[in-house]
Amino acid sequence: MSEFLASRYEGLSPYVPGEQPKDRTYVKLNSNETSVPPAPGVARALADPALLANLGRYADPHCMPLREAVASTYGLDAAEVFCGNGSDEVLGFLLLTFCEPGSRIAFPDVTYGFYRDFSSTQGLDWTEIPLLDDFTLDVDAFAAFDSTVVFPNPNAPTGLAISPADVVRICETHPGRLVIVDEAYVDYGSQTCAPLVRDHRNLVVVHTMSKSRNLAGAHIGWCLAQADLVSDLNDIKFSFNPFNLSAPTMAMGIAALEDEGYFRACTHQIMETRERTRAELEAMGFTVLPSVTNFVFATHPALRAHDWLVRLREAGVLTRYYAAPRIDDWLRVTVGTDEEMDVFLRETRRILETL
Ligand SMILES: *Cc1c(COP(=O)(O)O)cnc(C)c1O
Repeated sequence: MSEFLASRYEGLSPYVPGEQPKDRTYVKLNSNETSVPPAPGVARALADPALLANLGRYADPHCMPLREAVASTYGLDAAEVFCGNGSDEVLGFLLLTFCEPGSRIAFPDVTYGFYRDFSSTQGLDWTEIPLLDDFTLDVDAFAAFDSTVVFPNPNAPTGLAISPADVVRICETHPGRLVIVDEAYVDYGSQTCAPLVRDHRNLVVVHTMSKSRNLAGAHIGWCLAQADLVSDLNDIKFSFNPFNLSAPTMAMGIAALEDEGYFRACTHQIMETRERTRAELEAMGFTVLPSVTNFVFATHPALRAHDWLVRLREAGVLTRYYAAPRIDDWLRVTVGTDEEMDVFLRETRRILETL
């Protein structure tokens, strides 16, 4: 750290993304992205001569066509949609816009690490609400908390979801504080809370195209909330980075949203492959949480998770390990294509045979 770093960032612990090693070709199952290309319309959108001809101009800072495409996907109005350069940026803008410095925010003890990192950048105090023993979210504790709360639904890295009725209960116990529900994985078999924002002023639903729309490399996210909250977010965005989404990025997002059939086929395939992977792991003696996401979270009584990680990496398969309390004997494995999962399962079987 240089002597110029602002003192408020002392003690910062930046988010550590899944490793992206380049020393060989890996089966990459460590970042919950996909190796499947996006909808065919995305390539056509990028090849549009009008897009290229206009690259000398700034793109629409209101992101209107993209917001309209998102809104029509949910049956909402564009005024109820805020777009960002990935949902991480949207989460950042939410905390920047709605949380007082020094105020408190709660998230689960076992969850997406970025909430903690971003809270620390923003000078927020945080409370980690422990998951219950079965790794489900403690709905009562979140309902009781009287300041901002944020959690993924389904949660990561556990893969478990709570119902929209539970989210409503969390919203209604303290209507004066914000409830941020991060639905990064909602398209793999759980129910969205998107329609609830009309009735719940304090609810914000966040979503990303990085997972279920095969567009991590484009990095597009949004949140849904009542129009005056979206307006506040835009005011802060226009005071920070008005042109946060490039024209090619937005064109890709719109094209992907237009192809509902491709989206359904991709997410359906992931869910089928997930269930097969889970069944095969269980047959090998693993305990696998009943995931409704594009990853599985698994542990084995005779194989330490960290050894499993290291030996899979030696075999060319990347997975994700967390040296954190409660989950340090579990591995998170992204559900890839059937071929990728066959390699993962074959190598896992081989590792178990050597024990
Ligand atoms: C992947 C992920 C994100 C980040 O998505 P981006 O849109 O790529 O920034 C946010 N929240 C959770 C829980 C995620 O797993």
